[in-house]
Amino acid sequence: MDWLMGKSKAKPNGKKPAAEERKLYLEPEYTKSRITDFEFKELVVLPREIDLNEWLASNTTTFFHHVNLQYSTISEFCTGETCQTMAVCNTQHYWYDERGKKVKCTAPQYVDFVMSSVQKLVTDEDIFPTKYGKEFPLSFESLVKKICKYLFHVLAHIYSSHFKETLALELHGHLNTLYIHFILFVREFNLVDCKETTVMGDLTEVLCGSGAGAGAQNHVKER
Ligand SMILES: [Zn+2]
Repeated sequence: MDWLMGKSKAKPNGKKPAAEERKLYLEPEYTKSRITDFEFKELVVLPREIDLNEWLASNTTTFFHHVNLQYSTISEFCTGETCQTMAVCNTQHYWYDERGKKVKCTAPQYVDFVMSSVQKLVTDEDIFPTKYGKEFPLSFESLVKKICKYLFHVLAHIYSSHFKETLALELHGHLNTLYIHFILFVREFNLVDCKETTVMGDLTEVLCGSGAGAGAQNHVKER
C-alpha cells in the first residue's frame, strides 16, 4: 500500500506541445458523442440513507473496472515503442515504487502498475470491506483519492495518445460518457486535485462545463 503514499509528480517533458497539432478529441463532432443522456450530475450525488464511504467504495470500484475495460480496447496500440513514457499531452507521469523511488516506465508499464495496485486495494477486505458491520479504515478517503488520481491519468492518456484508435473502434462515445461520469463524481467529492486535471482542462470544459460543480453548465447540450 505504500506505493500510494508516493507522490506522482508530473513534469513537462521539455517538448513544446505542438500547438498547431489539432486535438482530435476536442472536435465537436466527437465531443457530442455519448452512449446515454443520463444526468450524471444527479447520478453522482450521495443518495440519502447510503453511507458516504460505501458510496465512494462502490463508485471507485466501478470506475476502476470501466477504465480498465476502456484501456483494454486500445492496449494493443499502447506499447513500449509507441508510448515510451506515460505522457498526457505535454505532461509526463512517473511511477513511484513502495519506497517512494521514482520508476522510469513506459505507458503500458505505468498502466499495469496502476491496475494491479488498484485491483489489490479494491479486493482487500480491510480497505474495501464488503461484509456487513466491517468498518472502513481511517485512510480510506485518501486511498480513494489516490486511486482516482491514477485512474484519471489512464483516462487522460487514452485521450491524448489513443483517441484515433478509440475513434476507429467507434468507442469514443463510451470514452466520453465514462469521462463525464468520472469527472463529475470526483468533483462532487473533491477527490482529485485540480492541478492534476488541468492538463485536460479544455476537454473537461467542453464535456462537463467548468467550475467546481454546482454551477457548471453542460455546454455540449446547448449546442
Ligand atoms: Zn499509450
